[in-house]
Amino acid sequence: MGIRQELLFKIKSVDLEKVELPKKVSSYFGENTFSTETMQKYISGDTFNAFKRWMAEGATISLEQANEIANAMKEWAIAKGATYYTHWFQPMTGLTAEKHDSFVSIVGPGKVIEKFSGSKLIQGEPDASSFPSGGIRATFEARGYTAWDPSSPAFIIESKLGKTLCIPTIFISYHGEALDKKLPLLRSDEALSKAAIGLLQLFGHKDVKKVFSTCGPEQEYFLIDKNYYNLRQDLVMAGRTLVGAPSPKGQQLEDQYFGTIKERVINFMFDVAEEAYKLGIPVMTRHNEVAPHQYEFAPIFEESNIAADHNLLLMELMKKVALRHDLVCLLHEKPFAGINGSGKHLNWSLSDDKGNNLLDPGSTPEGNLQFLAILVAVLRAVYLHADLLRASIALAGNEHRLGANEAPPAIISVFLGDQLTKILNMLEKGVKTNVSKQDVMDLGIARLPRFNKDMTDRNRTSPFAFTGQKFEFRAVGSSQNISTPITIVNAIIAESLDFVADKIKKEVSAGKDFNTAVLQVVAQLIKETKDIRFEGNNYSEEWVKEAKKRALPNVAATYEALESLAKDKNIKLFEKYKVFSKEEIVARYHIWIHLYNLTLEIEANTLNEMVNASIVPAGLEYEELLSENLLRLTELKKIAGLKIEQAALTDLKEHLSDVISKIYYVRHNTKEMAKLLLKAKKVGDEERAELYFKELKPLMEHIRKHVDALEQVVSDEHWDLPKYREMLFVK
Ligand code: ADP
Ligand code: MG
Repeated sequence: MGIRQELLFKIKSVDLEKVELPKKVSSYFGENTFSTETMQKYISGDTFNAFKRWMAEGATISLEQANEIANAMKEWAIAKGATYYTHWFQPMTGLTAEKHDSFVSIVGPGKVIEKFSGSKLIQGEPDASSFPSGGIRATFEARGYTAWDPSSPAFIIESKLGKTLCIPTIFISYHGEALDKKLPLLRSDEALSKAAIGLLQLFGHKDVKKVFSTCGPEQEYFLIDKNYYNLRQDLVMAGRTLVGAPSPKGQQLEDQYFGTIKERVINFMFDVAEEAYKLGIPVMTRHNEVAPHQYEFAPIFEESNIAADHNLLLMELMKKVALRHDLVCLLHEKPFAGINGSGKHLNWSLSDDKGNNLLDPGSTPEGNLQFLAILVAVLRAVYLHADLLRASIALAGNEHRLGANEAPPAIISVFLGDQLTKILNMLEKGVKTNVSKQDVMDLGIARLPRFNKDMTDRNRTSPFAFTGQKFEFRAVGSSQNISTPITIVNAIIAESLDFVADKIKKEVSAGKDFNTAVLQVVAQLIKETKDIRFEGNNYSEEWVKEAKKRALPNVAATYEALESLAKDKNIKLFEKYKVFSKEEIVARYHIWIHLYNLTLEIEANTLNEMVNASIVPAGLEYEELLSENLLRLTELKKIAGLKIEQAALTDLKEHLSDVISKIYYVRHNTKEMAKLLLKAKKVGDEERAELYFKELKPLMEHIRKHVDALEQVVSDEHWDLPKYREMLFVK
């Protein structure tokens, strides 16, 4: 028996202790977070008020107050059993990073006390000189500093033998440049707030102090048995299968989506949810997704900065908890070829400090008018900056997913649904067409549509869809840190909100009455941005053709998508809104191109090893079996006169030649791949990325085709790589 087959007998769910009466979630939600409420219990009223002012208005607190909070945080964490603390941050590559320090300080020979000061809370120095900085930090001053982000609560991570206090931080250079993904997000929220307040003031909301984006990321993932995972070098090294023939049953029966969740998986889900609740992560929905062994977790939406931290934490939790259940959680965008990949629908909206959702149409004519002004600002932002949205989701993993038949294409368009489309068409033409009387509100000078609250129209193929009272950016990759896509969405919409506000002001100062001015700006923008709207099937060939006619960008390659980051128009936008300096954005462009190359090199080297150390040897063993067999039969026929039909011998010979040639093609193409990798070493990152996209990827696909053909003929006993049908269907 081969290793793979032996495994089949060992696969089973882990034994779990039965929980008689699960705890009420409300009794422990957020118990491992240093929430504002918890903080209040530990510090003086004055300091607490100063902290709250800081959060609401940006007036920073004093060092003494920071000391008081740090001390409170330490007391709380130690009381809960924490012995270490870490500044937890989001480097420009990977998900999160942390450097741990003990609370212990030496106070005399052989004597220690637990200490944690305000200055350590506010700023840490991980000296993380090996994080890529894209040249921002010269190596001689290779220090990166972490600084406390007080808007995201500190939390405690538990492991079996201890607990660690984690403090969300930004990561900056000595000169204050952002070396992470959190600081740009915070900056973009500030830009968005300013712009949105400017527009709201025109609509008479003089008392709004803060506007922020809200996010609810729907996290898709796969779960497979750990034993199979460990036998697949490609999953271990690259997070996706580089070879693997499709199983006879894939997702064609559509019997998985929203199906009954298997017990082993539901146990995992309960476990993740419990851990998440302790950390104050409001996971809400869980269900099966379309592909076999594919699932989703969706949270209740939160302020973007918190939502991003929570999504990162959730991803880490999912990976950690899966192992406890002898499962592995795959977050890659395309772990298996031929079936659906995983995305992360990023639900995005705008909220003011009074809790009003600014993308909620509202029930009064004035409310509707304001909604329309914001809506056209979003349309304009997407229309003008589709290239940036595409860049924000450009990574090697997502490249496999975008444009594949089950995922949004790389063309960014907006879906609004029937009702809104009708209304916009009407506003554009200034006449009412096909709208019944109750759909129209009379504003005296102009007619304004009445919105049906329940706009449940859905288009699952749209990359940027309006879904009722929020937009859903559906092209985001499952493995991504959502901070960057949110940052870009915030920045481009801030710019558009300013644009709309300016236009309205101009019309008003030219003597127009306010409502007429708004309607005119709205109508003009509806017209100008029309090409970005698409209500049909985004997965279809016709759309690709139509989009080309409309001159919408359709960028398949990651390297090309990333180039937009460093375009003049975009650098100007980022600088104007203080989201990225030129240096910061150019650094990101370089880092992400480099990351793409590294990812492809890891994949190619893994494939190379798999072919040489596992696939070809399996093929050769099988080849030997066949040739031995053929030899013996031929001999027996000759010597012993065994009756064997010539056709049977010919068939065996053909089978053997077929196996020999398959092995040859696999080896031949793998050698070509090795040559290509050597050639790539001689060129710079940008050229290399292009070479990888245009030549390496097709070559890897080619190798895969031959390997998969081989997999389908080599005997199960010799083929050690777990097959799709096992990874995806064994329960
Ligand atoms: P869908 O619209 O995709 O059918 P839901 O209404 O259940 O599904 O919402 C999906 C996700 O959108 C959830 O994570 C939810 O919290 C989030 N969401 C809902 N409203 C908002 C909002 N105003 N801002 C951001 N995210 C939101
Ligand atoms: Mg959704």
